[in-house]
Amino acid sequence: MFLPSRRCFAALCLTAVLLAAALPTAWCQVHAAAQASTRRIERGRLLLQWGDPRPATRAAPSTRAASAPLSVRAPLRPQLRVQLLTDDGRRIRLDAVAARQAAVDLSRLNTRRVAVSFAGRSAATALKSKAKAADVVEAIVPIDAPVPRLAAPARRQASAAAAISGKTRWLSLMCKFADIAEEQKPRTFFQQQYGDDVGQLGHYWAEVSYGTISLAGSTAHGWYTLPHARADYVIREEGKEQMDADRLFQDCVGAADPDVDFTGVQGVNLMFNGELDGHAWGGAACATMDGRTQCPRATWNPAWSFKNLAPLAHEMGHGYGLPHSDNSDGDADTYDNPWDLMSDVWNNAVNDQTYGTRPKHVAMIQRDRLGWVADGRKLVLPAGTHQTRRIELQYASLADAGGVQMIVLSMPEQADPNQTVRYTLEARRRSGDYEAALAGDAVIVHRTQNETAYSQDARVPPADRANNEESMFKVGERWSEPDGAYAVEVESMGVNGFVLLVTAGRGIGSGQVTGGNGPVRRTPAAPATPAAAAAQAHAPAGGGKRNAPPGTVAPKQNPRRPPIKKSPKLQKRRAWV
Ligand SMILES: [Zn+2]
Repeated sequence: MFLPSRRCFAALCLTAVLLAAALPTAWCQVHAAAQASTRRIERGRLLLQWGDPRPATRAAPSTRAASAPLSVRAPLRPQLRVQLLTDDGRRIRLDAVAARQAAVDLSRLNTRRVAVSFAGRSAATALKSKAKAADVVEAIVPIDAPVPRLAAPARRQASAAAAISGKTRWLSLMCKFADIAEEQKPRTFFQQQYGDDVGQLGHYWAEVSYGTISLAGSTAHGWYTLPHARADYVIREEGKEQMDADRLFQDCVGAADPDVDFTGVQGVNLMFNGELDGHAWGGAACATMDGRTQCPRATWNPAWSFKNLAPLAHEMGHGYGLPHSDNSDGDADTYDNPWDLMSDVWNNAVNDQTYGTRPKHVAMIQRDRLGWVADGRKLVLPAGTHQTRRIELQYASLADAGGVQMIVLSMPEQADPNQTVRYTLEARRRSGDYEAALAGDAVIVHRTQNETAYSQDARVPPADRANNEESMFKVGERWSEPDGAYAVEVESMGVNGFVLLVTAGRGIGSGQVTGGNGPVRRTPAAPATPAAAAAQAHAPAGGGKRNAPPGTVAPKQNPRRPPIKKSPKLQKRRAWV
């Protein structure tokens, strides 16, 4: 049960202190007394670094059908490192799970100035929990933009919004480990990756941002030789390779600094001629550039990443502040939603002769995070309304849509903002330069909680990968919100999109579930790493028991809905009866 306690009020207290506002000081005092601990506030720049594992085995793009699933893959453990670079130059490593809870929407804060409230754990508490006495992250708030008057948690969350527009100049720096001579691609290849032709990064980001951003002025430089061998940057600890991302960034940038002008650079793509730690990385890092410390967006790419535009664009997405999305099967694999570049990079993708696997579009929720969905393209239905509306939902890929391309179905706001849910609808179509290999033309539903969007699946239990028929809502089919707050019927499909009948607030379809509060689902294995725990901690709520042995099936959660054993298609239809 959520208690209106630590995290919520720590955030309010922190913001109140920062604004010198006469806000819930009583709560702060009560809270502080209750914690019986010391609290301190640190200010600085927040740096996120996401690591995405390479597929263990993968046929060459030229020989693999674009839509063919990967048969064997890496352990699928995403990594997330969270650091605070304080104003006086210290680096504080934050626990990723705690940081995500404390910030509500951590990814929006990448590279931004923030204040972090730490509560020192008392010695007694530490002893009781058999943990080291360590500071606990209670709240993270941005301090580089005006903060609106404090009221609802959602307003605090809104204050963290960081729209990205205009020219976002990136640099590619190619760096060789001192003990590896190979140069997989010439500089011209990396330079042309930024072009505005189909299949190049300039073209892709302009298309998915509806022309909001460009990569104009982006250039490539190298190859430079790093001062050290690979083994000095990638260290084996506890049987696993660990990459020193900050040192690699500083040394590669340092090697390029004498002949590169970093003026106005927003992002740096590092290209390495050797394997890193089995991951490609994206986020941000700091280094001395042109004589002063700068902290741009950053990516770290081994050859399998820079030879394929899709993983490279995924890492740039992290740089822009995009988190992973997921499907709703409840497992620990966050790379199983092929409707979003920020989840499944490889499946249902178009192949390019020059640039490998092309990126699919990012989901509408991701575009919206970055301010690319203008008001006219978005329809938000507030929670608690009672109405039925016929709405044309235009294809997300339409550059010049004159209508709605994203429908947001709001749910009641919860006292703990981490518990607030909303649903988004978008129309996807197999067409164009990046979307032609999608699983189908359909309305896709995502459930968003905290910062993660989970694609919804009518199959029970949800499929391993959301390119199944039951994840696509087509003409004649209907989706109902698990608690009966909304029902969406797909009436017809036209040149520009689908016509939907959206009913809100009439208790329709109670119990019909698509990955929300009721379906039987597989139970994920216990996470092996803190980062995996972070990923698992953000699996959709309401699933089966999380601590059951791997491979077991959780007990059915919703007794109102009997098991359905029809064919998958019938099963989907039956669920709506
Ligand atoms: Zn990632």
